[in-house]
Amino acid sequence: MADVVVVGSGPNGLAAAVVLASAGLSVEVYEAETTAGGGARTAELTLPGFHHDVCSGAHPMALASPFFRAFDLSERGVDLLVPEVSYAHPLDGGRAGLAWLDLDRTAADLGRDGAAWRRLFEPLVRNWQGVVDLTMADLRRLPDDLPTAVRFGLRLAEQGSPLWNARFHEDIAPALLTGVATHAITSPRALPAAGAGLLLATLGHAGGWVIPRGGSQAIPDALIAELEELGGRLHVGHRVESLDEFAGARAVLLDLAPQGLLRLAAGRLPKRYVKRLLRFRYGGAACKVDFALSGPVPWRAEGCERAGTLHLVGSRAEAMAAEGAVAAGRHAERPYVLAIQPGVVDPGRAPGDSQTFYTYAHVPNGSDRDISDAVIAQVERFAPGFRDLILAENVITAAEMPKHNANYVGGDISAGAMTLRQTAFRPAPRWNPYATPLPGVYLCSSATPPGPGVHGMNGMHAARHVLRDEFDIRTEPLDLLHNRQPQHR
Ligand SMILES: Cc1cc2nc3c(=O)[nH]c(=O)nc-3n(C[C@H](O)[C@H](O)[C@H](O)COP(=O)(O)OP(=O)(O)OC[C@H]3O[C@@H](n4cnc5c(N)ncnc54)[C@H](O)[C@@H]3O)c2cc1C
Repeated sequence: MADVVVVGSGPNGLAAAVVLASAGLSVEVYEAETTAGGGARTAELTLPGFHHDVCSGAHPMALASPFFRAFDLSERGVDLLVPEVSYAHPLDGGRAGLAWLDLDRTAADLGRDGAAWRRLFEPLVRNWQGVVDLTMADLRRLPDDLPTAVRFGLRLAEQGSPLWNARFHEDIAPALLTGVATHAITSPRALPAAGAGLLLATLGHAGGWVIPRGGSQAIPDALIAELEELGGRLHVGHRVESLDEFAGARAVLLDLAPQGLLRLAAGRLPKRYVKRLLRFRYGGAACKVDFALSGPVPWRAEGCERAGTLHLVGSRAEAMAAEGAVAAGRHAERPYVLAIQPGVVDPGRAPGDSQTFYTYAHVPNGSDRDISDAVIAQVERFAPGFRDLILAENVITAAEMPKHNANYVGGDISAGAMTLRQTAFRPAPRWNPYATPLPGVYLCSSATPPGPGVHGMNGMHAARHVLRDEFDIRTEPLDLLHNRQPQHR
């Protein structure tokens, strides 16, 4: 039996596996599905030759997180393509907010609110690494960079409160920012959403919302290549049913939602911890709709055709209403739709002039409704003629999502609602949220701090505890990764 077993080959499971193997431990990864990568898989979902990202599609954090800064995907052959416009937010009347990679250009486009946008983001963009390190920490230590923490905290207090409109005079800038905050699938004015919005919007002007050539799958593939080079092994198509399968391993890391831990530990966990895990709330969900198109989307507003990602919901007030409906367990008539057009930078995703077009819409947890009509209506609203381009579509309802990945309970793509409490205490209030009461058994999924996204940080933090507490290895994971970078070998 290997020193360490990792259950689940999502970005966090693989990040943990790579760190642990870099420390010289033998590592085996077990994946339930027949392909590896969890929320970073790419597949031909519609027609042959059309490569769709099944879950994640845009990757600001794959460039910026401390884990990936050290792992350096570009050095490992992953081509991270940078759209000129990180994200766009069309409004009725052929207008749109555009978050250019270039902050100055963004501010220039935002008219009267340009200066306010610049004041909000310039100090964060200037020190984007500090912002990322702050928000990607395990939330158990005082921040190293106090000035950045204060700058970020003040802006968070503003955008996560009724003051959020105070700096803006027009409707485009607030809508543009709200589109990003709404990624958290909760009220965009809630603190966790505002925090995610500020972080991701900062990265929109620093590095960009990159799209890997060929699809998100390139990210786990690079991690797997490194793991195998280090002697680690990956077993796909092996759904782990019980921790008993790994009785000989010194540590087991679960890249699973708390529900997965409860199932695999079956009756072995103390009642108090079980109660806490059962109290963990799963949040709003996504219905994924992927399209094969005969050509690019005919956006009415100029500039949208250059954006990698688009947020389709309309004004700040409409985003609030749509998320309010989802939180109340209803389907919004005009839902929040997140769209990605990889063809802007990666024409090879589809044959000839045709395109893949990625969307998901927010829906209540557990929804079994195919909401492709509402998605098409939202796209048509900002791009009349879209419907005529559709060659094929593939729908994964929220209720079907766990069949593709057991971590997305009820279609909650964050593996746990992003409430304030669950941001700090994921999945239960404990000083070490990665350790479980079972000796040698750890959680490393996005159901632990710092939460969802393809950044590898949950896996890295969990691996640090495993190294120290199970193997008495005190080397920092980032040092282990730096030593493995191609130029250092
Ligand atoms: C529709 C959608 C869109 C998203 N968009 C983005 C985006 O654009 N950018 C971004 O950064 N993030 C995005 N995310 C979030 C991101 O994909 C996740 O936060 C991230 O993948 C979490 O990584 P993880 O390693 O914690 O878990 P996952 O990636 O969920 O991986 C968990 C793995 O464990 C496996 N598993 C589960 N149970 C078992 C078992 N019993 N035995 C063996 N294996 C098991 C699963 O099959 C899966 O492969 C999106 C997610 C979804 C679903």
